[in-house]
Amino acid sequence: MKRTIHATVWNEYRHELRHEAIRAIYPEGIHGAIAGFLRDAGIQAGTATLAEPEHGLTQEVLDKTDVLLWWGHMAHQEVEDEVVQRVYKRVMEGMGLIVLHSGHASKIFRKLCGTDSELLRWREANEKEILWVMDPSHPIVQGVPDHIILPHEEMYGETFIIPKPDELVFVSWFEGGEVFRSGLTYTRGRGKIFYFRPGHETFPTFLNKDIQQVIINAVRWAAPAAQPPQITLGQIKEPLMPIVGMTENKLSELYGEDYTLKG
Ligand code: ZN
Repeated sequence: MKRTIHATVWNEYRHELRHEAIRAIYPEGIHGAIAGFLRDAGIQAGTATLAEPEHGLTQEVLDKTDVLLWWGHMAHQEVEDEVVQRVYKRVMEGMGLIVLHSGHASKIFRKLCGTDSELLRWREANEKEILWVMDPSHPIVQGVPDHIILPHEEMYGETFIIPKPDELVFVSWFEGGEVFRSGLTYTRGRGKIFYFRPGHETFPTFLNKDIQQVIINAVRWAAPAAQPPQITLGQIKEPLMPIVGMTENKLSELYGEDYTLKG
């Protein structure tokens, strides 16, 4: 039987409340739109927003979250460091994290990258974007065409100041000439991370079926294994089996009769 994956979609949820045109695209917020198509795919999806106490990311919520999705843009600095640390700890423990679009500049992504990942080129000119699949065997692109055309998006261009990704899944081309590493994976601790570029708030990007399929696949890919092995770390006083190598006899064979192991 297939295990139910619990996802939490976190959204800053500010653009939608301030601008009628954005609310018209996402009447239930970007988080509502994403949670909706995840539920349609059989994923149990809850939501959390910046304005909620503890930004909706209490320890209890995070403990039952297999995969956290993150959309933020104008209020990264308002995210409490304590909540960032809590999310970071859960990623180390194995929670999956999907960082969307302007989430590249979020506190949590910058912390996980360890670089100035907020730095890149950008332009708002309603231009065309083509996302090209770099790795057709990757689970995240199954059921997706080899390229996705978005008629209007914000441009992000290289150089993107990130550590070398584990896997490069998508590269974007933009009408104005720039390119960008748009789909990347990382592993941090036991957690799997996917950064996915598209999703500017003024365009209906998250209503695109191929973009939805990528995000659904990414949630399934990033979910932790059902029964990961328990790992014991620290000082191990009792070895698994008797250690026979460290004897006076062996040392004298190596270094001569004068060499004896004291104590
Ligand atoms: Zn944007």
